[in-house]
Amino acid sequence: MRERASRISCPACRNDTYMKREPRYEGFKKVGETLSCVDCGHVFEDEESAPAAMNPALSVFSDDDRSKQVRVFDDGEQARICRYCEHYVLNPFTQRCDLHNRETEATDTCEDFDRKEESDKASE
Ligand SMILES: [Zn+2]
Repeated sequence: MRERASRISCPACRNDTYMKREPRYEGFKKVGETLSCVDCGHVFEDEESAPAAMNPALSVFSDDDRSKQVRVFDDGEQARICRYCEHYVLNPFTQRCDLHNRETEATDTCEDFDRKEESDKASE
C-alpha cells in the first residue's frame, strides 16, 4: 500500500506542506488513518480540518506573504507542475521529486517549482 501525500496549509507551523497518512490500528484491525503535518507533526482530526494548500480561500489566516506562493497557474499553458520541474525524476517504477525526496505525479504542483531548461543541445 502506498502513502499518498496531500498538499495542505498547516495551521500549526504555517507551512504549505504535505499531509501524511498513517493507518491506525487497534490490535490487527485498521480503525482509521492518522493525518498529520509532515513538517511539524501536527495531527488533524479529519481531512476537512486540514486546509488545502491549493485553495487559499480555505485559509483561516491572512494571506500576507504567502500570496506570492499561491500563484500557481498564472503563467499560461505551462503550469508549475512537476513534469516541467527540474527536480522531477522519472524512472521505470515511480515518479519522484528529487527536491522533496518523495513520490510525485506529473500533474502535481509545487511552490518550489524550478522550470527545467528545455535545452535542445542534442549535438555536442
Ligand atoms: Zn505543520
